[in-house]
Amino acid sequence: MTARFTDKVVLITGAGSGLGRAAATRVAAEGASLALVDVNANGLADTAAAITDVASDAKVLQIVADVSNETAVADYVAQTVQTFGHIDGFFNNAGIEGKQNLTEDFGADEFDKVVSINLRGVFLGLKYVLAQMRKQGSGTVVNTASVGGIRGVGNQSGYAAAKHGVVGLTRNSGIEYGQYGISIKAIAPGAIMTPMVEASLKQIDPVNWEEAGREFVSVNPMKRFGRPEEVGNLVAFLLSDESSFINATTIPIDGGQSEKY
Ligand code: NAD
Repeated sequence: MTARFTDKVVLITGAGSGLGRAAATRVAAEGASLALVDVNANGLADTAAAITDVASDAKVLQIVADVSNETAVADYVAQTVQTFGHIDGFFNNAGIEGKQNLTEDFGADEFDKVVSINLRGVFLGLKYVLAQMRKQGSGTVVNTASVGGIRGVGNQSGYAAAKHGVVGLTRNSGIEYGQYGISIKAIAPGAIMTPMVEASLKQIDPVNWEEAGREFVSVNPMKRFGRPEEVGNLVAFLLSDESSFINATTIPIDGGQSEKY
């Protein structure tokens, strides 16, 4: 396999679980040095251990930070640059789902919380990482949107607002920064079996959540959940030089579900 990330530094938020961990192990296996950011220190340690399994000499920096806090974001970017000197790839991925509810029952506090992490967090990451990438004259960003950012899902006011916002930020920044040698794209995953989706199914049916999951994916053209590694493969491609002319757009990875009437 060609190592697409030799001498590259990749910064990942939400790296302590699910899609962030899958992307981290994928790019580490191809030579990347990694800065891993998450609010959950144990999750970060588990991801670092998973990286050691696939790339025993990979350089890994673990940073506990809340992506919705501007000082913490400035700090995780500064720590990454101090440690590695540059940032080649940024997977701007941390997010939460929030509680599911009809709009009229969707609490304003819950709305603010989801938007603060899923949208403000992505904006802040862009703000500080793009300043660094512009100095370098190079870099690639992958923002994590969702099918809930390109289609209506329902019962997700905060999540829908935030993820549609991530698609908008991707367009906006991609158009601004293409001229500086930087490309910015987003992914729109469908249902991928991670701890977030497990928790979401448990909101639907705390006891028979696995059955609820089977029912949930029965309408998917591929009749299954996606696997985190499948998203990790896409993110690695999008962070690599192979995707250098893909910019400002959002790529679904959902088994075709968002194309279905
Ligand atoms: P996950 O819960 O497994 O992982 C998310 C990680 O983000 C966790 O480690 C969590 O601690 C971290 N995190 C949460 N809030 C944070 C904060 N304020 N600051 C820093 N880290 C924080 O979930 P996942 O499925 O891997 O989700 C990753 C991203 O993918 C999210 O943005 C999510 O909305 C998006 N997504 C997931 C799916 C799916 O089906 N799994 C589908 C579409 C979009």
